[in-house]
Amino acid sequence: MSWDFETEPEFQAKLDWMRWFIDEEIVPLEPVLDDIPLDEWKAAREHLRSQVKEQGLWGAFLDPALGGAGFGQLKLALMSEIIGRSMVSMSVFGVQAPDSGNMELLAHGATPEQKDRWLWPNLRGELSSAFALTEPFNAGADPTVISTSAVRDGDEWVINGHKWFITNASSADFTLVFAETNPDSRPHRHASIFVVPAGTPGMEVLRDVGTMSHTHVEQGRPGNHSEVVFVDCRVPADHLIGRPGDGFVLAQRRLGGGRIHHAMRWLGQSQRALDIMCERAVSRRSHGKLLAQHQMIQEYVARSHMEIQAARLVTFHTAWKMDRLGAAEVRAELGMVKALVSQTVLAVLDRTIQVCGALGYSADLPVEAWYRSTRFGPIGDGPDELHRSVLARHILKGYSPVEGWPSEHIPSRRPAAEAKWAQLRAAAGVV
Ligand SMILES: Cc1cc2nc3c(=O)[nH]c(=O)nc-3n(C[C@H](O)[C@H](O)[C@H](O)COP(=O)(O)OP(=O)(O)OC[C@H]3O[C@@H](n4cnc5c(N)ncnc54)[C@H](O)[C@@H]3O)c2cc1C
Repeated sequence: MSWDFETEPEFQAKLDWMRWFIDEEIVPLEPVLDDIPLDEWKAAREHLRSQVKEQGLWGAFLDPALGGAGFGQLKLALMSEIIGRSMVSMSVFGVQAPDSGNMELLAHGATPEQKDRWLWPNLRGELSSAFALTEPFNAGADPTVISTSAVRDGDEWVINGHKWFITNASSADFTLVFAETNPDSRPHRHASIFVVPAGTPGMEVLRDVGTMSHTHVEQGRPGNHSEVVFVDCRVPADHLIGRPGDGFVLAQRRLGGGRIHHAMRWLGQSQRALDIMCERAVSRRSHGKLLAQHQMIQEYVARSHMEIQAARLVTFHTAWKMDRLGAAEVRAELGMVKALVSQTVLAVLDRTIQVCGALGYSADLPVEAWYRSTRFGPIGDGPDELHRSVLARHILKGYSPVEGWPSEHIPSRRPAAEAKWAQLRAAAGVV
């Protein structure tokens, strides 16, 4: 029986280093991060990245079979929880979305030449990428319906369409564009994925969209979400990833482990929020006692801790299963992890704001900003409703209809129960 919650000492040492590095070198910068000019931050980030690389912790999400350092999902889950303590750490460790998902897609679908051109430079941090699926006039939750098309013309593909909310499209070196090539093969073989390098004529970034996280965006800043149009945008034939019609399957590739990493980062953020809640609760007095002595505040603390621990275990278990069985076998569980944890983190952040009162609502604490940026969780990457629906259908597959009374109907079960009892009485010699 091996069912073990211990971390091997060598890897624990890596985790301890990560915790130290993030808490000592990154978290203290947070109050000034938004003021740092982008070029200065990029130079400083290289300095931080070099330390991560020295530890062998850079870009650790890609399996060795796919050319990465290959930690496996369970270890990545533990790492992601620490990275979630400060989300800016993602780019310091080379695991930032959407690059990490895009690299998984390229690792699975690209030719060796395409990998040399886009994957390995992306993995080394020399190139950055975006992924363009969502459209303003079709439901992003349903990628079987898109209006963006790509048509073969000689040695080129010609892309026309309108995308929006494309993270990093205004700053990335290339964008992976999801476009319909085989309209007769809907729903799942209709689309393909193309690499569109930045500056390709016909690709125009209309604007970076203001959000509840950043209402006033600085155009072109990494992390922004762009509205993009493609008007007769031509790319060479070798910019198609995989075969025509592979787009849907490849797009799924980028979501597997990413859901675990997102979830664990949110749980790292949840724990930091709970620390803020608890510190305030033991520091602030109201009606003659500490907040921590009010039962409702105790309820917030206990509930938050319980929810975080339950969500961690669900996520670790899914990561463990994914390492053993592969992403396809745990598809419903990956959606469950995403839908569960996106709710958990928001609930904990919300309670933290509540316990901190006006201070919690203010920008003097980081929680309100975390809440605003993390609020995308239940929407992005497929809305939670969809994941719950997939999970429910997966669960329901294990059940068959019965005629008449339910199989647990007590009066119907009684005759069999009496016979069983008679057998047991006889076997046990009960007189
Ligand atoms: C911060 C952020 C970053 C993003 N980055 C990218 C990116 O880089 N690239 C990209 O392509 N997209 C990106 N997106 C878009 C994201 O993937 C979509 O927002 C998401 O798929 C939902 O699509 P939608 O916004 O069109 O909402 P819709 O599909 O219109 O759905 C709206 C709501 O309808 C409900 N709903 C939809 N379908 C169902 C269903 N089957 N069952 C029950 N209820 C349902 C849900 O409540 C859902 O929230 C990003 C979004 C955000 C918020």
